[in-house]
Amino acid sequence: MTDYDSSVQDSGRQFARKVIAPIAADADEGEEFPLQAFREMGRFGLFGAPYPERYGGAETDYTAYATLIREVAKVCAATAMTAVSHATLTCDPIFTAGSDYLKDKFLQPMISGEKIGAFAMTEAGSGSDIASIQTRAEAAGDYYLLNGSKLFITNANVADLAVVVAKTSPQAGLLGLSLLVVEKGTPGFAATGRKERKLGMRASDTGELVFMDVRVPKENLIGRQDRGFEVLQRTLPAARLDMAAIALGISEEARDLCLDYVVQRRQFGTPLYRFQLVKAMLANMEMRISAADLLLRKGLRLRDQGKSFLKEAAEAKLFASEMAVAVTRDAIQIHGAYGYSRDLPLERFYRDAKLTEIGDGTSEIQRLIIADELIKGRTAPPAGAAARVASRGSGI
Ligand SMILES: Cc1cc2nc3c(=O)[nH]c(=O)nc-3n(C[C@H](O)[C@H](O)[C@H](O)COP(=O)(O)OP(=O)(O)OC[C@H]3O[C@@H](n4cnc5c(N)ncnc54)[C@H](O)[C@@H]3O)c2cc1C
Repeated sequence: MTDYDSSVQDSGRQFARKVIAPIAADADEGEEFPLQAFREMGRFGLFGAPYPERYGGAETDYTAYATLIREVAKVCAATAMTAVSHATLTCDPIFTAGSDYLKDKFLQPMISGEKIGAFAMTEAGSGSDIASIQTRAEAAGDYYLLNGSKLFITNANVADLAVVVAKTSPQAGLLGLSLLVVEKGTPGFAATGRKERKLGMRASDTGELVFMDVRVPKENLIGRQDRGFEVLQRTLPAARLDMAAIALGISEEARDLCLDYVVQRRQFGTPLYRFQLVKAMLANMEMRISAADLLLRKGLRLRDQGKSFLKEAAEAKLFASEMAVAVTRDAIQIHGAYGYSRDLPLERFYRDAKLTEIGDGTSEIQRLIIADELIKGRTAPPAGAAARVASRGSGI
């Protein structure tokens, strides 16, 4: 780790411990979106870390941004997920593909934390298979007429704006997708108010959005009509790197709690750390965390260098998420009944870790992406549904 990395980590750590940690357990218990903490993240500069100063950003590299996300995830993975949904999934498409008009209008208030963003792709019948999206945006004069609904959307009930993935050419599958910015208050656009009741990530808001004859100005189109999939191919891998950072943050904190506990807790007249079976769990934790860390750094380095990181993001996300589930499960095991109790945060970490295997594309989809990238160019292009998966048309 360079001096730069460690100073970013130190400031992220101090911020997360001071501002997020004190509210994490209550926000989980009450399933409450921590609005105040969200605003503080904006003021701290977390959302803007990798964005230009022009929009209120700090122009760090993506490695630094992921480091900050990881520090937040150590104390509250749900808050880290809220941050990523806002600052990566919603801001990144606007920044990488949006017009100057969209960037000037939306990035500054989002980066400062004044406005909250949501990224709306998933539908009742469309999760991994994004080519099957039903939400329609029909071009009409100087606007698109948007109809459809989205569910399992992070920040849905609190968002001031949403980046919505819709079909502009319904017959064209992945080549008929477009991304539109839809602002709260636009007639016909609403959050239903329903809040998903979830296993974990309970301090993050997850809800439904509906669009009924919403007139979205044409200038709110991100990039080109029907070319939304190209934008998604940059934004979704970016979010996967962030999800790997979240999985790592959860795991590192769980490991550290174990290290304190095995020294202090005694059974059979000796501290737990002397038991070889406990040592084996600690060794596996450390090895897996180190491996996930290396995969994440590899993906982030490629992203920072402006190179393709599709496969590396899938590898980092897949490995880190499965690792986080294993590490948090073993951390509870090492703590015995105390680990199972809600008096310690480990059961929250375990519940939160499970989401990392599903959100931003399931583990199965990550395996398909990796295999597809490996064999690309060596086989004839597949047809039908296989083609949709092989062309990475697979959900977030
Ligand atoms: C807490 C939470 C927050 C979320 N936030 C957002 C958000 O902000 N925005 C958003 O758009 N979405 C969001 N999602 C949705 C999330 O991205 C989807 O859940 C995810 O993409 C998987 O889709 P699905 O749940 O419909 O599962 P499905 O696609 O129905 O998959 C079900 C199972 O089948 C497997 N499967 C599917 N296709 C294949 C295949 N081709 N080969 C092998 N196995 C396959 C999957 O891996 C999975 O195990 C969120 C979900 C949750 C739980």
